[in-house]
Amino acid sequence: MKETMKEVVITGPKQYEIREVPVPKPGDGEVLIQMKAAGVCGSDVHQFLGENPNAVFPRVPGHENAGVIVAVGKDVKNIKVGDHVVVDLVVACGECPQCKKGRRNVCRTVKARGSAIDGGWREYFAVPEHEVYLLPQDMPFKDAALIEPFAIGGHCTTRAGIQGGESVLVLGSGTIGAVILQTLKLKGCRVICADINDASLARAKEYGADAIVNTKTKSLKEAVQEFTDGAGVDVIFDSACYPGSLTAVLEMGIPANGATIVPMGFCTAQEGITQAMINTRELSIIGTRMSCNQFQPTIERFAKHEYQLDGMVSHYIPFSQVGQVFENIIHPPKDMKKMVIVFDEE
Ligand SMILES: [Zn+2]
Ligand SMILES: [Zn+2]
Repeated sequence: MKETMKEVVITGPKQYEIREVPVPKPGDGEVLIQMKAAGVCGSDVHQFLGENPNAVFPRVPGHENAGVIVAVGKDVKNIKVGDHVVVDLVVACGECPQCKKGRRNVCRTVKARGSAIDGGWREYFAVPEHEVYLLPQDMPFKDAALIEPFAIGGHCTTRAGIQGGESVLVLGSGTIGAVILQTLKLKGCRVICADINDASLARAKEYGADAIVNTKTKSLKEAVQEFTDGAGVDVIFDSACYPGSLTAVLEMGIPANGATIVPMGFCTAQEGITQAMINTRELSIIGTRMSCNQFQPTIERFAKHEYQLDGMVSHYIPFSQVGQVFENIIHPPKDMKKMVIVFDEE
């Protein structure tokens, strides 16, 4: 194995360095991962642009990490050299009341890999063995990098209490909107997707959307009314997350009485919501953060090819050209959807 490796470090807003550092050694209970593929997520973009108020610099970004185990420390029991893995983004204490209830994603001292602690945009890194999940050996790493975003789809639809059969509005048809749509279709829902980008809406149609609406040319309320014969939708996911989007989806005629609304973002703008807007219809507004206990079921669904991965990633970028990722963040190509960094073979 090499003595040194390259890592990407965001040193401040719109600044990064590629550093040559020693390859870490796995400590007791840790495994050493050689990275093979890393997704570029919206949170990495916000981090780089300096739009994340909690961002700490310097930081190695990246929480959508897939790789191969190249060394294991003392007392590692379940993982061995050569195993293919994805890495959990949630680092939790395991001791607090939330962890004891099984809600590691809202641990009192929860840290997200790639923002609160260093992530995977580096050739090697070590993590505790319980933070990796085994992949089938024949699953391409470039696909495995998408397991984390699809785990989010599993988590937020569980938080919403989806049983199957609901009519659902997904506002925003970007990566997370497309993930939620695909998850809802697997769970047996009827889904209407709204966006202002026709290409994203066309993709939603391919992923099984029962209806699409471009809200630049048609009102959301009118489209939802048509879709539900005037009843309103049972569940709403706001994956558009622009200032005012949560208020917009609560307009009379969009949620059915008793509907559940799940905001997906971390927008800090004030919304125009009143108690009356919630209680005249007894709405449930449900929070969701990252994912919990979703990696294993998501890996199983990937192995069975239940998700449509074609069209999810628009740009695969070799790690040796990682500067292109930052270039594309600052000047996004017209057709950009999602980027995945692929690490060069030795
Ligand atoms: Zn992500
Ligand atoms: Zn905890």
